[in-house]
Amino acid sequence: MTCGRPCEAETWITPAGKTAALAFPGVEWADISDCAVCVLEAHAPETPHQGLVCELQCDQAVWVYWGAGHPLSELVLRTDCPATGRDGGCSGYVGHPGRHTFELPYPLGAD
Ligand SMILES: [Zn+2]
Ligand SMILES: [Zn+2]
Repeated sequence: MTCGRPCEAETWITPAGKTAALAFPGVEWADISDCAVCVLEAHAPETPHQGLVCELQCDQAVWVYWGAGHPLSELVLRTDCPATGRDGGCSGYVGHPGRHTFELPYPLGAD
């Protein structure tokens, strides 16, 4: 898909999801997002959405993925995407599909 816009699907991080996120080393309850937004370029429905749950040190972060093939949100530890553009780094993770976030018209603002 090369339509060049962000997906922006959202999911709430439930209390159960937050509790699961705490199992990852370095995660603090206060740092966990209430809502995760898919950072991927708009994608096929078979591809799960990918949203950031909690940033960690050492270029790591906890992500949630969900979608048609993954009706239950699942948490996973990923390494930050190392790509850097004119206006800063990519907000994705290593190996994410589609374009880097700085290549998309990103309405959420750079972090
Ligand atoms: Zn998505
Ligand atoms: Zn990237």
